[in-house]
Amino acid sequence: MFAYSASMAPMEERSSSCPLDCPDLCGLTVTIDQGRVVEINGDRRGPITDGFVCGKVRKFADHMYGDDRIKTPLIRDGAKGSGQFRTATWDEALAIVATRLQLIRSTSGAEAILPYHYGGSNGWLTEGALATRFFRRLGASNLDRTFCAAATTAACRGLYGVMQGVALEDYEHARLIVLWGINPTATGIHLVPVIERAIAAGAKLVVVDPRKTPLARRADLHLPIRPGTDVPVALAVIHALFTRGHANRAFLAEHAAEVEELERRSARWSLEDAAREAGLELAELDRFVELYAQASPAVIRVGNGLERNRNGGSAVAAVLAIPAVAGKFGVRGGGYTMAGDARWGVSDQAGIAEPPSAARTINMSQISTALQTLTEPRLECLFVYNCNPAVTAPDQRALIEELRRDDLFVVVHDQVMTDTAHLADVVLPATTFLEHRDLRRGDGATRMFDSHAVVAPVGEARSNNQLFGALLERFDLVRPGDAMTDEEIVASVFAASPDGPALRAQLATATIASPPEGARQIPFVEVFPGTPDQKIHLVPEHLDREAPAGLYTYQPDPRTDEFPLTLISPSLATQISSMFGQLRTAPAALELSAHDAAARGIRTGDAIKVWNSYGEVHCLAKIATEVRDGVCVLPKGLWRKHTANGFTSNALIPPGLADLGGQAAFNDARVQVAKR
Ligand code: SF4
Repeated sequence: MFAYSASMAPMEERSSSCPLDCPDLCGLTVTIDQGRVVEINGDRRGPITDGFVCGKVRKFADHMYGDDRIKTPLIRDGAKGSGQFRTATWDEALAIVATRLQLIRSTSGAEAILPYHYGGSNGWLTEGALATRFFRRLGASNLDRTFCAAATTAACRGLYGVMQGVALEDYEHARLIVLWGINPTATGIHLVPVIERAIAAGAKLVVVDPRKTPLARRADLHLPIRPGTDVPVALAVIHALFTRGHANRAFLAEHAAEVEELERRSARWSLEDAAREAGLELAELDRFVELYAQASPAVIRVGNGLERNRNGGSAVAAVLAIPAVAGKFGVRGGGYTMAGDARWGVSDQAGIAEPPSAARTINMSQISTALQTLTEPRLECLFVYNCNPAVTAPDQRALIEELRRDDLFVVVHDQVMTDTAHLADVVLPATTFLEHRDLRRGDGATRMFDSHAVVAPVGEARSNNQLFGALLERFDLVRPGDAMTDEEIVASVFAASPDGPALRAQLATATIASPPEGARQIPFVEVFPGTPDQKIHLVPEHLDREAPAGLYTYQPDPRTDEFPLTLISPSLATQISSMFGQLRTAPAALELSAHDAAARGIRTGDAIKVWNSYGEVHCLAKIATEVRDGVCVLPKGLWRKHTANGFTSNALIPPGLADLGGQAAFNDARVQVAKR
């Protein structure tokens, strides 16, 4: 599987691509000296990388070769969570894992085993090829992956089916760019110069975000919306478009269904009521309606910030309905972008060759509850890979207690010693994306790379496919004809689809591929909704049934006198969720407004506690002008070492979900803050 040659010359450049959870999909030039990565830069194969990469990946060598890198299998050699491990061979570690899994399967049933995984730094193949096959054939419980984009995907697919949105490179053509719940400066930096070029050419920028992000500072209009109030704001905009004659009735008649029902539901929200609920100036909201109505092309970039609350699915659906009502499609740079909806015509499922199992499904966002309450069977094994739930799952305090349970067998396959790995029974060293082959598919820059290993794995690290291939063999679950090597899996993915051979040929010759229908399609000219009737469904029946109170129903802010502040946990510019957290040395600081700090006698640098009924976090305070009154910020992805009491914002997240997709409601925490 591994393609590195020890005979490669000292100091050479090799091509790779970045699979991290980021929309930009950078092609990379990796400089290697004596078999070690010494420098990583962006290349120009993709449409927007333009020769530079973010600081996260520029410093990736620190992650690969740092002290926290796991180099050999480790077996727990002390109390759970004590951090005491002994080294082991792969053979011994796999024997321990296989023996325990067999025992659980024979005594309690395979559903007592739960694979717990997310994207990690993995691409299309290593994220879930042989792992998925292994756990399905074993009969283990299935995992519903709902930390991110679950509500967004449900809403977008419900309204538009699978339909590629506006390509990021086409933002240069827009006359109005709306960033709604997204901060590209931290989570997708290559959009920033594209927006700058659009502004230089006369485009206007609107940012809808509770924080004054770097782009919000430069925007023509910043709507500092109160978290969780996107539904009234978007519906009020829709209502105003209808009542002011800005709706494109001809476009709606030709391309949309349930128009009258959306018009009826949006009438619930006037601009006045929405502005009051969202904490906005009425004049600002009014200006947004007119700016949007008059501009063409106008594009809305929908981020993940608005889905992370009780109203998240309806919020995304309402925002995505705006360009339909105003008829903003049909021109290059007009419409919306929601990551990840290119029609590739090939499926990773072809490489797995195993249908979904009938075993129960557990929502990853409710893992602490599942561990505490599930019976028949109770969960006895958590097999964690590409994921760090001790700091990324809600209800952190209860989850860590469960992970400490002696009767819960925890296996972690990861690159570095994460907070979850510290609580494991067996830790297995994983390869990074520069040490294994993978297909990498962009979810913003709509392209695909097939990238091979550029260096040998550090220590004894193995890829997901190597690990789960070995377990398939130990459990005698390999069947004749199964694709087992990376090359065989790639071949079977492309062979299973009519579009596959052409895609594979593109990858072989150009080293980068575009979707069969193209990467820069103009919606409603060259590409149409992926719904059965190719129409936009503005109030899809299945989403209306799924949302507890019906689609577009606003569930009010849950803040109370006891817990009056809204805690949000946006991404750090230096991490991808919790990835790279081991490299951070700065202690965590809660950002709050000068007004909220003064009301509590708090100054920057004070030791404070943030608490609610779910938990308490001890950290520092930072007065921030970026944050509006009533909102405080503790970023996601912090590790336990970053706070004084070992808990992060996830200790304060309630167990409730958004209204669609089983999505975690990370921004629904309401808290109080005081000096310690
Ligand atoms: S994380 Fe994003 S910006 Fe950074 S190198 Fe990867 S794709 Fe590019």
